[in-house]
Amino acid sequence: MTAPPSAPPPRPTVRGVDLDPQTRCAHWRTGLDVVALRLACCPEFWACRDCHDALADHPAVPVPREGFDAPHVLCGVCRAELTVREYRTAMAGDRPACPRCGAGFNPGCSRHDHLYFAPGGAR
Ligand SMILES: [Zn+2]
Ligand SMILES: [Zn+2]
Ligand SMILES: [Zn+2]
Repeated sequence: MTAPPSAPPPRPTVRGVDLDPQTRCAHWRTGLDVVALRLACCPEFWACRDCHDALADHPAVPVPREGFDAPHVLCGVCRAELTVREYRTAMAGDRPACPRCGAGFNPGCSRHDHLYFAPGGAR
């Protein structure tokens, strides 16, 4: 009964086209494009929706509002998993950034929010 002293924590799988270690992909490669997202249709994180559509064998399904308290966003810098609510709060600031490590997020990503998450606001 000897457990390995320091087993590495399980790392979420991130997939994407031409993925780099901070989850940039062939489509989004600036210093701020370090966010990976998990959709409702499959368990992996994806560098972006275009990566999903290029590599997955099924149509993308945005996360419904019931899923907004689950971790669907991954910071590629510190690997923190953020809920949709945490992510949207971070993106709403003057300088969008990871709430855990402070890495800047691309403010333009909020324009594509609807590709990943059901439209918010209405309740
Ligand atoms: Zn999928
Ligand atoms: Zn991509
Ligand atoms: Zn981070």
